[in-house]
Amino acid sequence: MEDKNYKEYAKKILSQLTPIFAKASVGDFSQDVEIPDQDDEFTQVFVGVQIMVEVIREKIAEQTSLNEALLKSLEEKDALLDSVGDGLIATDEKGRIVVMNKAAEQILGWTLDEILGKFLAEIVSIFDGQDSNKSLSNRPITEALVSGKKVVGDFFYARKNQTKFPVGLTVTPYLLEGKSIGAIEVFRDITFQKEVDKMKSGFLSLAAHELRTPLGLIRWHLELLLQDPHNFFSKEVREELRKVYGDNLRMLTLVNDLLNVSRIDEGKVPNTPKLIDINQEIKMALKEVSDLVNKKLIKVNFQTQDLPPILIDPKRFKEVIVNLLANAIKYNQVNGQLDINTKNDNLEIEISIKDSGIGIPDNAKAQIFNKFFRADNASLSDSEGTGLGLFVVKSYVESWGGKIWFESQQYQGSTFHFTLPIAKKIPA
Ligand code: ADP
Repeated sequence: MEDKNYKEYAKKILSQLTPIFAKASVGDFSQDVEIPDQDDEFTQVFVGVQIMVEVIREKIAEQTSLNEALLKSLEEKDALLDSVGDGLIATDEKGRIVVMNKAAEQILGWTLDEILGKFLAEIVSIFDGQDSNKSLSNRPITEALVSGKKVVGDFFYARKNQTKFPVGLTVTPYLLEGKSIGAIEVFRDITFQKEVDKMKSGFLSLAAHELRTPLGLIRWHLELLLQDPHNFFSKEVREELRKVYGDNLRMLTLVNDLLNVSRIDEGKVPNTPKLIDINQEIKMALKEVSDLVNKKLIKVNFQTQDLPPILIDPKRFKEVIVNLLANAIKYNQVNGQLDINTKNDNLEIEISIKDSGIGIPDNAKAQIFNKFFRADNASLSDSEGTGLGLFVVKSYVESWGGKIWFESQQYQGSTFHFTLPIAKKIPA
């Protein structure tokens, strides 16, 4: 073929590819490549283009089905998150919001579009009580991100319109190779629950109050009858009276415990602080439990240091000491040992009460200060007990700015310690 003719031929045959490339340039690979009838050097070009178009079509089909699957899974995830009744917010490792479900939008009054990518701490203020705004460093999410551990608690949140409401909150960090890469906050508006709690506490406190007076009067009358100066009652009758007296005392203890707990729950613990001599108060508390000590033949050893006077409500302090002493006797062996120690390091006073009793099983240790908790070995050794004493003791000690803890091993005894600050004034 002549050169000129060849060029004409090449131009013509290749021009059949122009519409294919024109469409491909805008992402359309739908046009089929038709291989020319004439088999020559251009046939290879057409076959090559045809293979290329087919490969690209396959890739596009693969990508489309992947995209569809991804979209479906994202839609499913959104539907899943939105079907959760609790509010849910996920943040990245810096605390920036990456996900929020519908319930969270409704509870807080923000939409996801308004707050996506912003710092959670800047959007939602969090409070301990109604008033004290938590700083960034002690927000639960910071604690969870730093420690890599779940944080649970009741707090107050502020909505978009700055009104506050109580929330029950769980913050769980999500980890990659042991490092926090974000956190999920799940929260619930617990306004109603708090109202019910308040009503329960109010009812409990009213009932306990009303029961205390007649029970106190019954105790007084029984004491008079038990004195029986003219030997009016037979031995049997006196024995029965003593049993009734014991039952009455137990009811009084329970009613007093319930009253204390409801006062703590309502934040209404009576408080009339006075400067007291701690060692003196402990001696008086020991007198109060002397019957129990004698009955169980317990040997008591009280070691003191010179202590400065402490400003504290004497009635509450006595309740704390009597409670700890009574436990150290109740859960002790017959002929057991009771050691009381007071120490002063000029910053705080530490009081320790050690017994040689049944001890606290490992599986019960975490719950010892919980309301109504009693370990199985304690219920076996002493069937009477409310499980409220240590809850009250811990609440009082912490309200004074002190700490309480214990060491114990089953069958080897327990030591309860608590501290009272002396450098600063104990808060009223
Ligand atoms: P209670 O003595 O009425 O059961 P507390 O609140 O005083 O209630 O104590 C809670 C639980 O803690 C007890 O039931 C017991 O299991 C455990 N406990 C407290 N003190 C001691 C102790 N000194 N030795 C062994 N167990 C103790």
